[in-house]
Amino acid sequence: MKPKVFITRKIPAHLLKELQSVCDISIWDHEDTPVPRILLEEKIPDIDGLFCLLTEKIDADLLEKANNLKVVSNMAVGYNNIDVDAATKKGIIVTNTPGVLTETTADLTFALLMATARRIPEASEFLRDGKWNTWSPMLLTGQDIYNSTLGIIGMGRIGEALVRRAKGFNMNILYHNRKRKLDAEEELDIQYCPLDKLLKESDFICIMTPYTEETKNMIRKEHFKLMKDTAILINTARGGIVNEEDLYHALVSNEIWAAGVDVFEQEPVPRNHQLLTLPKVVALPHIGSASIATRIKMANVAVNNLIQALKGEIPDHIVNKEIVNL
Ligand code: NAP
Repeated sequence: MKPKVFITRKIPAHLLKELQSVCDISIWDHEDTPVPRILLEEKIPDIDGLFCLLTEKIDADLLEKANNLKVVSNMAVGYNNIDVDAATKKGIIVTNTPGVLTETTADLTFALLMATARRIPEASEFLRDGKWNTWSPMLLTGQDIYNSTLGIIGMGRIGEALVRRAKGFNMNILYHNRKRKLDAEEELDIQYCPLDKLLKESDFICIMTPYTEETKNMIRKEHFKLMKDTAILINTARGGIVNEEDLYHALVSNEIWAAGVDVFEQEPVPRNHQLLTLPKVVALPHIGSASIATRIKMANVAVNNLIQALKGEIPDHIVNKEIVNL
């Protein structure tokens, strides 16, 4: 008998076919609507494998209902939507899709940094609204990127890819992690900093950590007070790492200059969210990894992880490694 798998969103047809050849598939075959929780709860008791996205909350209550589940394959590198401890306790493997989205997410992060510094969305809207009457010395002036200082909090795969882009702009790079990366310091010419020093000295601050108990609310009121009044904060990591209420107040009181945000505490972000009222905020709908090629690669990696786990093999990208004694 083929293992039963539930897929929580439409995936590329060739990958669906590949899965169908080895699994008994049911699918929430929609492009733009997340699977209703109630359907997920109905499916979970019987399935052997789950293919899900970051829009699904795979919490302890849901996992408690699973009788045969062997693997939860998340089509994302971040897995804060999954209660990994609860999965581990039940012997369920959790997998993710690191690596294939690194360069694409670094591209978007740098694009957002540039768009925010040079006020590109605001300038474009200004023109389309018919407000462009004349060239004017200080009209729509922004912040320089070339020769500036970039502080990266979370120097992992995407952080390092961001450094390689920033080097083309002759940026001086500071970083903060829990562990220093001496090899990367040497290879990329970057400097380790305590968080406070990084916040004080950077012109651009990019958040690139995962969302964890430790990073939740990591950037809040007291941190904005340390930043330059010309500083630009970029968050393409996860909502909830930066306190949105405090970010709003830091922007309206001119403690910092602007922010570029791809991720929010609540997604989709409500239309009346206070950050969206500020022209100083460039806001995107969580599109860090959204290139056609990369999304297909991510789906491919997630399918491979799922099949490997269902065959009893060790998946290429396993989050709770302790489960297979790795
Ligand atoms: P990664 O290689 O694991 O890098 C994460 C880095 O964060 C590590 O270097 C880690 O170093 C650091 N870190 C973890 N906890 C920290 C803490 N408490 N304080 C300071 N640094 C900390 O992950 P990645 O592939 O670069 O991805 C990073 C995150 O980006 C993902 O988790 C995901 O949430 C997000 N992401 C978003 C999008 C999007 O669409 N917007 C796309 C892809 C990824 P230490 O362990 O030494 O602290």
